[in-house]
Order: sequence, then structure tokens, then C-alpha cells
Amino acid sequence: MIAPAAGGAEPALVAHVYRVPLRTRFRGIDVRDGVLVHGPAGWGEFSPFWDYDVAESRRWWGAAAEAAVLGWPAPLRTSVPVNVTVPAVGPERAHAIVTASGCRTAKVKVAEPGQSPAEDLARVEAVRDALGPDGAIRVDANAAWDVDTAVSRLRELDRVGLEYAEQPCPTLTDLAALRRRVDVRIAADEVVRRSADPRRVDLREAADVVVLKVQPLGGVRAALEVAEAHGLPCVVSSALESSVGIAAGVALAAALPDLPFACGLATIALFTDDVSTEPLLPVGGALPVRRPAPDRLAEVAADPGTDRRWRERLAAVRSAGGAA
Ligand SMILES: [Mg+2]
Repeated sequence: MIAPAAGGAEPALVAHVYRVPLRTRFRGIDVRDGVLVHGPAGWGEFSPFWDYDVAESRRWWGAAAEAAVLGWPAPLRTSVPVNVTVPAVGPERAHAIVTASGCRTAKVKVAEPGQSPAEDLARVEAVRDALGPDGAIRVDANAAWDVDTAVSRLRELDRVGLEYAEQPCPTLTDLAALRRRVDVRIAADEVVRRSADPRRVDLREAADVVVLKVQPLGGVRAALEVAEAHGLPCVVSSALESSVGIAAGVALAAALPDLPFACGLATIALFTDDVSTEPLLPVGGALPVRRPAPDRLAEVAADPGTDRRWRERLAAVRSAGGAA
């Protein structure tokens, strides 16, 4: 089990609750909210999605406490290449999002409930058109497909040229079966970060790439341990955080010994607003390695009801104690 990085040494931290609408519905949500905490090492973000219970939220708290109390390991690079994230939008909007981003890699959401395979293909084709032949396209199905469906969808989508497919199927067994039947590289996301011990998931037959997310894995140090345990190429992605949480992802990407792929950390562009006047948005397809100050807390402050729910949630997770 991975203990929260700062477990047992958590001082009283100043907490602010933020709430920001998204431009487009993403991961089933229209609004993102969470708590920012300030400690001796700076700001940290605690923002488990609302479908995470107290036990599963412990690692998210470990990441926030690490950022606020310990800070992060020294960076090995000064900027991090990132992908533009394309939600389950129509092809014209997808094309415009990619063109406006300046990124050379795109992560395209597929298998959205209620949408057809033809809509996925049209979106991916539009993204290829926007990127040109040299750009890289990865798709994320969020574990929506069974193995046979994934085989047929990925073979079709790969005609456009895929860098990898992120978590096409739910289980390790499914991913291994799929990987034997398609040429597309497979990236493991949910199967790693939602397991009891992400270091011990046996990915040898199931994945070519590991997706690392700081909050679900319990912090930058814990995520570095996960990377080391698997020995596979890693991609750092966000959990759809504000610039405070994204800075932790950037710190992880900057501290990884190898970074062969663009990271999924350019998700502030999905938000209508941010906690900082200098949000972590990509410039020339990369994010600078820095920690934005959340100087817009009043402008993005949550309503009293949301504020109260987050403070109750934070108190419950902090008092739960024990290993994550
Ligand atoms: Mg994913």
C-alpha cells in the first residue's frame, strides 16, 4: 500500500474551495470543483471526483498534502510537451480545438455514451486533418469497450494512424487479450490508478504505456514509484485540475527520467476560468515547469453549499487516517 506522502505530519492548512464551469461536458461533468490548500511548501489541490468515496480519496489527499507540506523532487527539464485534449465534440469543433492549441499531439475522447462509431471516426479524421501526417493521435475510451468491440473499433480508427489507445477495455485480462489482436499500442490508466496498489498491477502482457496521474496515485513521489515499478514508458495526465493541481502533474513529468510521449496536462483549456491569472496553458505545444499562484480565489470561489460539502469531505478524508 502507498501511504500518503505526508501522512502523520499534516499541519493545519488554509483551505479554499473553487468551482469553475467547463466549456464542454467532459467525463460526465459540466463543472469542476475542489479544495486548494496552502502550507509551508506552497499550494496543493484536493479534488477527487464526486463518485470517489472517502477510502479512494485518501491518495488524492496525500498528493495535496505533499504539495503543501513537502514540495516536489527537483525537475530534470524546464518544459513538458503536452497533447491537446479533444472532448466528444463534432468534427468541425474538434478540428478547431486542435488547430487553436498549437500542439502536435492530440488525445481524442471516443466511446462516449450515446454516440456512434461513425461519430468517433469522423472526430479522429478531423483531428488528423488538423494535425497533418506528422502529428500524433491517441484515443481514450475510458474502459468502455469489450474486447471484440475494441478490436473492430481500433482497427478502424488506426487507419487514421494511432500513437496508442488509452484503456480501451476495463480489465487487465481484457487489455492483454486485446493487445494480442491489434497492432495499436495499449496504455493503462484506470486499471493502474484505481487498484489497491498501483505498483503491483501486472502490466507485462496488458500494456505498452502507463498513464500516471498525481492525485489518484497519492502524489509525485508515489507516482515516480509506480513508474519505476513498471519500467514502461509513462505519460503524465491530469485529473482535470485547476492550475494548482496541473502544476503537480508538470512536476511529475519534469522529474521522470524518461519522457518519450507528450503529456495530457493541457486540460485548463477545457475550463472557462482558472484559479490563476497565469494559468498553465500550453505555448508551442509545451507547458513551462512552474507553479502558478492561485491569485483569483475570490473570482472562482464556490457557492456556500459547495464550499461546505468540500470542507466536510476534506475533514472526512483527513480523519479517516491509515494507509490509502
Ligand atoms: Mg484515461
